[in-house]
Amino acid sequence: MKFQAPRGTYDILPEDQAYWRFVTEMTRQVCELYGYERIDVPVFEQTGLFERGVGETTDIVEKEMYTFRDRSDERMTLRPEFTAGICRAYAERKLHGRPQPLRLYTIGPAFRYERPQAGRYRQFYQVDVEVLGSQDPAIDLEVMQVAWQIYEAVGIKGLSFQVNSTGCPACRPGYIATLKAWYEQHLDGICDDCRRRYGENPLRLLDCKRESCGKIAEGAPRIAKSLCGACNDHFVQLRSYLDALGRPYEVNHRMVRGLDYYTKTVFEVWAEGIGAQNAVCGGGRYDGLIGMVGGPETPAIGFASGIERIILTMKQEGIEPPEVPKPAVFVAYLGAEAKDAAVVLAQELRSAGVGAAALWEDRSLKAQMKQADRIGAAYTLIIGEEEVKNGVVMVRRMADSTQTALPRWEVLDAVKGGGTA
Ligand code: AMP
Repeated sequence: MKFQAPRGTYDILPEDQAYWRFVTEMTRQVCELYGYERIDVPVFEQTGLFERGVGETTDIVEKEMYTFRDRSDERMTLRPEFTAGICRAYAERKLHGRPQPLRLYTIGPAFRYERPQAGRYRQFYQVDVEVLGSQDPAIDLEVMQVAWQIYEAVGIKGLSFQVNSTGCPACRPGYIATLKAWYEQHLDGICDDCRRRYGENPLRLLDCKRESCGKIAEGAPRIAKSLCGACNDHFVQLRSYLDALGRPYEVNHRMVRGLDYYTKTVFEVWAEGIGAQNAVCGGGRYDGLIGMVGGPETPAIGFASGIERIILTMKQEGIEPPEVPKPAVFVAYLGAEAKDAAVVLAQELRSAGVGAAALWEDRSLKAQMKQADRIGAAYTLIIGEEEVKNGVVMVRRMADSTQTALPRWEVLDAVKGGGTA
């Protein structure tokens, strides 16, 4: 019986870990630089949370969730995104009682039953950043800047923002009515999915990926003209901050984002040259969501960024992450007595914080030296019967192949600080 990884999943093999380590470490550093605190929420939640929080008519809830009944017959869903879970935690753990706004971030896997392709998986990892408890457009900018600075920190170039406003409960219904009235004349030209959206979720008519639908959407009335005073001021202010920082951005009136909960600002960061999946992140304001999942009415904004897409972009731009540190020392031995000494020596080094590797398996000295080379050890410590008898260790400095026999007790000091770990 041979097993395969489920479609749309992958293994992050050791050789890829340098990218993951670098991206998650840079994310942590940037988030901390802006004063964001880490939160972790469960990988699965009650299905109703996502139905309510993400929206019944979204692609995610309609066709992409991994939903199952647990052994108590409760409907559970593997999180397809983080925002709903974080809002649930905010309400349930009374995080609204803490000084506001609350700045949070998290990193972890999310699950969507999508058609796998490059940059699109069924299990994928997201960096997720949320600010709860503020409606200041300067917070919108701050959140957007966190995303931008993470990409800058990992070395990605050719970035730009796509921004739009999706209005609020005061002005959006009017816009939707205008949009529907306009689409009435175009129903013949749009795809079946769009005809369904026309009835269920008309805003999504604007972001259909089909070329023919896209052409029609280009001519549709734009939301900018329907925004209420508050939404318009908010959007103008945000754009003036982006101008002040000199960030390249484009107002993309067709960008409504697939999730129902957005209000006012929506944005994506696009990186040049990653093809159809050129959005490395997407996010926006969701001033109504926390109230919808049982918390007090609280304005909030956040974004999520796929780590795979960040890494894909890095690879396309030829960006190499720093190497994962390797043990500084390799311990080689010949003979049973020497092996006893080697076991103890290797452990002493590690306990003192010096990385030490060994092959064990009683292999030839040649095989052991080869392994020392492979891991890039700065020193190889060689112990044979002779060394055991004399209480010494042969210390070989790999950079210039010099060998010195040192008394056993001098070895630690000699190799300390000699490598990367
Ligand atoms: P969303 O939650 O749909 O707004 O997506 C936010 C970000 O998550 C996207 O810009 C992608 O970087 C990433 N993402 C979403 N879905 C997938 C997926 N199926 N596979 C890989 N990355 C994804």
